[in-house]
Amino acid sequence: MLFHDSPEHAAFRAELRRFLAAELPLSHWNMRNDRDHITPDDAEFTCAFRKRLAAQGWLTMGWPKDFGGSGASYMTQTVYMEEMSSAGAPGAYDQGVWLAGPAIMMHGTSAQQQRWLPEMRTADVHWCQLFSEPGAGSDLASLQTRAVRDGDEYVINGQKIWTSGATEADWGILLARTDADAPKHRGISYFMLDLRTPGVTVRPLINMMGSEHFTEVFLEDVRVPADCLIGEENRGWYIATTTLDQERSSINRVVMTRSTLYALIDYVRAMRTLRTRAELRHELAERALEFEIGRWLCYRVAQMQSEGKIPNAEASVSKIFGTELQRQMGITGLRVVGMPGLLEPGTPLAPLQGRVERWAMAAPSYTIAGGTSEVNRNIVATRGLGLPRD
Ligand SMILES: Cc1cc2nc3c(=O)[nH]c(=O)nc-3n(C[C@H](O)[C@H](O)[C@H](O)COP(=O)(O)OP(=O)(O)OC[C@H]3O[C@@H](n4cnc5c(N)ncnc54)[C@H](O)[C@@H]3O)c2cc1C
Repeated sequence: MLFHDSPEHAAFRAELRRFLAAELPLSHWNMRNDRDHITPDDAEFTCAFRKRLAAQGWLTMGWPKDFGGSGASYMTQTVYMEEMSSAGAPGAYDQGVWLAGPAIMMHGTSAQQQRWLPEMRTADVHWCQLFSEPGAGSDLASLQTRAVRDGDEYVINGQKIWTSGATEADWGILLARTDADAPKHRGISYFMLDLRTPGVTVRPLINMMGSEHFTEVFLEDVRVPADCLIGEENRGWYIATTTLDQERSSINRVVMTRSTLYALIDYVRAMRTLRTRAELRHELAERALEFEIGRWLCYRVAQMQSEGKIPNAEASVSKIFGTELQRQMGITGLRVVGMPGLLEPGTPLAPLQGRVERWAMAAPSYTIAGGTSEVNRNIVATRGLGLPRD
């Protein structure tokens, strides 16, 4: 593995930085947190910015050329996500492009590919992921939402929870049980759900930042055309595992911590009373070391993908390390600035414009979303270290 950019990657990184410097009001976005509530102005800007990324061909750069992507390598995609996330750029990670698109490309019919992929490519529709349920998170295969075939339709009943971004989404990828008698992994199907269908109710859930980042979604006699089923009936679990692998292998969670780390370092440097305190200096040095390690763990995953290998335990190692670093960065922020770190943005005298409070409040969610640290440790223990399950 190369520990420095190839000339091609260095040139692409420079191009991205020029683009971001010209197109993004950095002081605003760099200060934001991805779990924050998006104001209507921000939502409008995010849509417009995503369209600019699409126009550059960057949004779907990882898609094969046959599907209108650029066929960019995993390493190039990693450089892209790294630059976008460290700048706080909105809309670079798109659930349609990263989760729904690959499922349709791999398992959809050509009619389904023509129906959904073009609108994802131009950023004209927004997607969400309707997997988790009140009784099925880590043990996702226990999900209870039912889909019953009725002529040319499926009738869906159930409840989803923790669905990020459903209030802004047009469509969702949905898992539902189509055979209640089969072993639990073998009775699940994978659907595309138009969220405007009668019977779908989306209710925002307010997280502890006071933000409507995620929602609960109720499904009551929702009639979904049978051609919204992706792949074969009852084989949806195997499609979903591709989606879940994709979620664990992303670099953005590590690099999101970079701007916070450097903001804290600048803060300590500027404060006469803090800059000589050994414990703070050591703590910041520790976070800087972890940042470098986390970044290289992500590059290792991308390198394996480039070689056609499937990173499994390696993706989990990267997920655990990256999200625990995000959590730790929130705690470090509070240690550095002390009690005033609890002041919210907009409060007079809030250090670093209230960003520390935002980070601390967002921090616990990262080790849960996309698979908890405990569950990922199980993957590392069994698939990585070969330890028995029980
Ligand atoms: C910010 C955020 C955004 C999210 N966005 C989405 C989304 O868009 N779409 C979606 O479908 N879901 C989403 N989720 C849900 C997320 O995938 C689940 O919260 C997660 O998988 C954990 O499931 P759970 O909440 O049901 O917890 P549970 O599975 O009930 O786990 C509770 C506790 O038990 C532990 N535990 C469970 N099983 C084991 C085990 N076998 N061994 C050891 N410990 C175990 C867990 O680690 C955890 O600490 C989101 C969650 C968050 C926090």
